[in-house]
Parts: sequence; C-alpha cells; structure tokens
Amino acid sequence: MQITCELHGTVRDAYGDKAATVALDSGATIGDLLDALDNGDERVAPLVRNGDSEIRPHIAVHVNGERVATSGGAGTALDDGDKVTILPSVSGGKRTLPFEMETVRLGNAAFEGLNNCYVLGLEDDAELTLIDTGFPTDETRSELERGLADIGIEFADIDRILLTHWHGDHAGLAADIQAASGCSVHVHVDDAPLVDGSEATQDMDDPAFRDTLTAWGMPPQKQTELAEFLDASAAAYARPTVETFTDGDRFDIGSVELEAVHLPGHTVGLCGFAFDGRDGRELFSGDALLPYYTPNVGGADVRVTEPLAAYLDTLVRIIDGEYERAWPGHRGAVVDPTGRAADIIDHHRERTDRVVDVLADGPATPWEVSAELFGTLHAIHILHGPGEAFAHLNHLEDAGLAARDGRNYELTTTEPATEALFPTIADRLRPGYEPVH
Ligand SMILES: [Zn+2]
Ligand SMILES: [Zn+2]
Repeated sequence: MQITCELHGTVRDAYGDKAATVALDSGATIGDLLDALDNGDERVAPLVRNGDSEIRPHIAVHVNGERVATSGGAGTALDDGDKVTILPSVSGGKRTLPFEMETVRLGNAAFEGLNNCYVLGLEDDAELTLIDTGFPTDETRSELERGLADIGIEFADIDRILLTHWHGDHAGLAADIQAASGCSVHVHVDDAPLVDGSEATQDMDDPAFRDTLTAWGMPPQKQTELAEFLDASAAAYARPTVETFTDGDRFDIGSVELEAVHLPGHTVGLCGFAFDGRDGRELFSGDALLPYYTPNVGGADVRVTEPLAAYLDTLVRIIDGEYERAWPGHRGAVVDPTGRAADIIDHHRERTDRVVDVLADGPATPWEVSAELFGTLHAIHILHGPGEAFAHLNHLEDAGLAARDGRNYELTTTEPATEALFPTIADRLRPGYEPVH
C-alpha cells in the first residue's frame, strides 16, 4: 500500500525533504512508516518515537487530518492511501535571532493549514507575549497548551497577545487565554470590532453581506450552502476584551521592540510586526505574506473596498521594508520576503490576464469569472472564489479597462493594457532572484 507523508521542521530536516511517498505492506503501522523513512539509518524515527509505541509529546502526528494519540500512537495501523503529517509542535528560533523565540505550530483543517503561534518575551523580566493564537476548537486549544507546556508555560503565565488580524484561526483562542491570565489582547483598530464581537461580518443574517454575494452573482442555492458551512464552522466562541493600535505603534518585549506595520488587503486591519534581526529588519507577516500560496483577497474580508489595489500596495510596502526574513501566520519562515512578494505580484498579474480572457468572451459576473478560474466551489471557497474574481474585476474597473453594468463586468477595450495595473519592482530584487512562474 502507498502512504504519502508531509514532514515539517526538524523532521523534514532529518529526512531531507518535505514530502515522501512510501510503499508498505498491508497492516503496517506508523512505527513501520518511521522505519521506512529512515531506510536503515536512524534519523527520523528517534525524533518522533519514544521507545516502541509512544509518540513524543511535542510531535503531532496526523493521519488524514486526525491527530494520533501520543500513548501507543506508533502502533496505529495505516490504510492504503493514508496521508500522514508529522509536525513538531515547537521549534525554537533563538539560534538565528538576537532574542529568544519559540514557535508553536497548531493544526488547522479549516483554512490555510498549520497556524503559527510565536512566543516572545521569554527573558526573565520581559512581558510574555504571543503573536496570534489558533482556531477556537478543543483540539487546537489542547495543542497550544501542550506546545506551551513543552517550553514551561501555561495560559495563566501569558502577559500579552498581539493579533495580526481578526480571522478565527489567528484570534480564536485569545479569549480563553485572557480568561486564564488576564492578559491584554492587542489588535489593529480596524479589525478590533470583529475580534471583540461588537461587529459581525460574513454573517448570512446581515442583509448587506447577502447583498454583496448577490451582487457577485452567487446563486441562491450556493448562498445556502455557504450559510450552512459558516454556521457549522463558526460555533459561537468567547470574545476577548481588546486594546487597539495603529500603524507605527511600538511594543517593548524585553530585548526586542516590535513596530506595527499596517498591511491591509487580506483584511482591513491586518498588521505585521517588524523588528531588528541579526542582519537587518525582519517581519512577523501574518497572512500578508505566506510561503507556497497566496492569501485570499476579496473574499477573506468583504469590508475591503478595493482589495487587489490594497494588497498590491501592501506587497510594495513589504518590498520597501527590505526585510531579511518574514515569519508568516502559516508555515515556515520566508527567507526572501522581497522575492516572495514579487512572486505574488506576478501571480496576480497572470490571474488578471486570465480574467481578461474570460471577459473577452462576453460580459460576466464575479461568480461566472470565478467558475472559469476555479471550477465548482465548496465550503469557504464559495466565498473566497468569487471574492478573488471580484478583486480582479474591481481592479480592472478602477483602471477604466472594464465597466460594470448591473452585476456584469465587460471590457471597455479589446486590448487592455494590464501591465500598468501592477507595480514595477524588477530593479529592487536580490541578485539571483528567479521568479517561480
Ligand atoms: Zn487570514
Ligand atoms: Zn490565516
């Protein structure tokens, strides 16, 4: 039987690759899989397994998204086609940073996967600070508690939480931690009402949100499907009391000072936090800059009125920051933030060209453009797909290359010059930069 593996952190480093496909005899267990990954030398198994059957407590092993128990977990039987993820829940950054930092990695099946909770202020006299929390589920709360316990911390010890943005996979556990510790919770003023619950968005009972979806051309049955998804995924959870900040505000955390950097687009109030690293400025980038994939714009926060323009400005701001490294809300560190921002600009330039190709066949709604780009959509993608299409159509409309008639967008010219819609950044790239597209 065939098992596919996704490996992270120290386990990935030990194996030498982040992905593996392994052939095993039927009836094989996770222990057998670890032995197969080792292929004779003991690099991987000792990191993950403790004795014959135990999984080490700070290693999360997921089979098809379900976490395997620590006790006896190595004896878990696998089936053909299973997908196994091996994820160290804590990885320290202190080797390469001028201050102590730990990263707790949290499972997240609902959105972009694997949220990072960064732990700062670990020196004796500093305020113990988390950047982002995790999705408000019992499973993620346990993962966070276990990850923090591995570095000798419990919720009650936390002094302060800084949130990059309002999304539940980042802000969701803030209230639980605040209830246990009385810690302060800080978020940009524009995202604050969605964190403390004084305002709602993506609420199907809100006529304005329904109107947005209808204006995008989303059919009623898809609105119903989206409502069912949002109801099921956004179970009522506790909300924290928050303190607000704005661009440029500073936070002293022991030997490091963080500076809030407003990076809107994915949400209205998304903020990164910049600091002095060993070789230059570095950035906690939240979902504004992610490795491997691009954050949704247009559907992730429908309050953003010109989502693509706002996000392109944010990418230019990241390039202008000349960061040596970025620490994203999901996945591992971005080693060339400028190059990554350039790749994302390229990605959106190509997507705009695809949108123009769709409109060349005749007027279309965001929903119809989304269907051409992404096919049939389910779950949160019912919102994100047409939102992204809207972001591109809106960008074309603002430049006068498309016009809106009711719900339909149409081209105003047969040969739209889309190049001018995107920033030119070629002269600011590092030597040796190669675009990924
Ligand atoms: Zn987000
Ligand atoms: Zn996120």
